[in-house]
Amino acid sequence: MGDQNSIVIISQSPEERQELQSMLESAGHSVEGRDAAPDLMVQREEPGVDLYVVSLPADFQPALQEPGSLSRVARKRVLYITPNASGSMRRELFRAGAADVLTHPLKKIDLQYRAERILAANWMRFRKEFDEPAMLKFVKELLDARIETIEPALDPQMPTGHFYPAVANILGRSSMDRECLEKLAGLGLLGREVANRVRLCPECDDSRLNYRETCPKCNSLNILQQEMVTHFSCAHSAPLQHFRRGGNLVCPKCDQSLRHIGVDYEKPSQLFTCFSCEFVFRDPAVETQCLRCNCTCTPSQTIELTVYSFIVTPLAEQALIEGQISGVNLEMLLRNTQTGLYSKPYFEHEIRRELVRTERYQSPFSMLLVRIDNFEEITSLHPSEATQFAESIFKAVSSGLRMLDTTCVWDIDTLGVLLSATDKARSREVVRRIQDDVHKLEFLYSIREPSVTISLVSSEDGHTDAAALTSAALTDLQE
Ligand SMILES: [Zn+2]
Ligand SMILES: [Zn+2]
Ligand SMILES: [Zn+2]
Repeated sequence: MGDQNSIVIISQSPEERQELQSMLESAGHSVEGRDAAPDLMVQREEPGVDLYVVSLPADFQPALQEPGSLSRVARKRVLYITPNASGSMRRELFRAGAADVLTHPLKKIDLQYRAERILAANWMRFRKEFDEPAMLKFVKELLDARIETIEPALDPQMPTGHFYPAVANILGRSSMDRECLEKLAGLGLLGREVANRVRLCPECDDSRLNYRETCPKCNSLNILQQEMVTHFSCAHSAPLQHFRRGGNLVCPKCDQSLRHIGVDYEKPSQLFTCFSCEFVFRDPAVETQCLRCNCTCTPSQTIELTVYSFIVTPLAEQALIEGQISGVNLEMLLRNTQTGLYSKPYFEHEIRRELVRTERYQSPFSMLLVRIDNFEEITSLHPSEATQFAESIFKAVSSGLRMLDTTCVWDIDTLGVLLSATDKARSREVVRRIQDDVHKLEFLYSIREPSVTISLVSSEDGHTDAAALTSAALTDLQE
């Protein structure tokens, strides 16, 4: 996966453009320098460009971006260079779509390393390159090496804190190793076993998080845990060291000696004091700070990622013998895990049967294609959950159908539904109900709000053969 990458450098200084260009060209990339206003690039990315390196002037203020206003996959190709390294600047740049942020002065080796890291995580490129022949080659090497289980190993340098040595041995070190394995697991060639759980930053998906204790009242970090003493007779509370006078304890407020624990004073207890607001408390609040993008949130707002061990399934060998993976796919997996889903050939056969029935008995029927919205983005951002995401939606769609309705996995993200003896008006009600049922899958919201696009064609539309009917449904879906 070491093709030449196309990099665009944006800087208003010609000298800097020259310098950056030579730094990156010496790493073997094709580099173009551009004199442009720095913040334009975040808005408009060109498909042929693998990486933008944007140098910001010292007085640059990033325009506040609505979180989520830009597609997260598309916007992870910008490396910002800034002389202003403040935490809030970092925060805004990551929010605006940075893949990484570097601070002036710049070292060539550092720039090259960061650029390589972003380029290696280019999901679109990876998807194109890890195609069926590449997957088969990978599976062959696994089987040749007699690897049965692919275990994750710890590496704090990786975004998830883990990498897969077995994958590194075959493909080289890549931050796409998990995606590789998830892709094969999605096709049924690998099974999963829980190996670890990590928490990720909700904004940049990185596991390098700092959990810090703060004042529950004012959120300050300036807190200290100390032994606190309360003098019963005057009710004065203060840290233990304020009571120490020589070898004795004397109340700093009323000057009485404290002799007997439980009589004169309460047993010292560990309490926190906030030096910002003077609040005294037993249990501090805990806040999570992302050490990469500097976003802060509560621990429960971080995102859990399950790290898996992958187990080679018999389907892997079968795919290798057949020389193709297309036969063993998500459809097969779904058919094994739930009833009521048919293969696409069977589904097409059923459409032909319905057409004959319509002609003979004037009984109408309808066909739906239900496509999961943004499934590509979901597979790229949450590869380990994508199958479950699709399965849950497919289940919700098919659970409300009648016994005589036929469903099939039309495509990895699309379900076909054949509604027997159902006219167009009643099919529209089914469409509405499916939309509602999918929307109610609240447990998927942490991955992404589930929604589907549905195309509806009916025998009433006058299609005379199955091919015309399905192509009309597909056209409808594209719009
Ligand atoms: Zn406070
Ligand atoms: Zn006292
Ligand atoms: Zn982050």
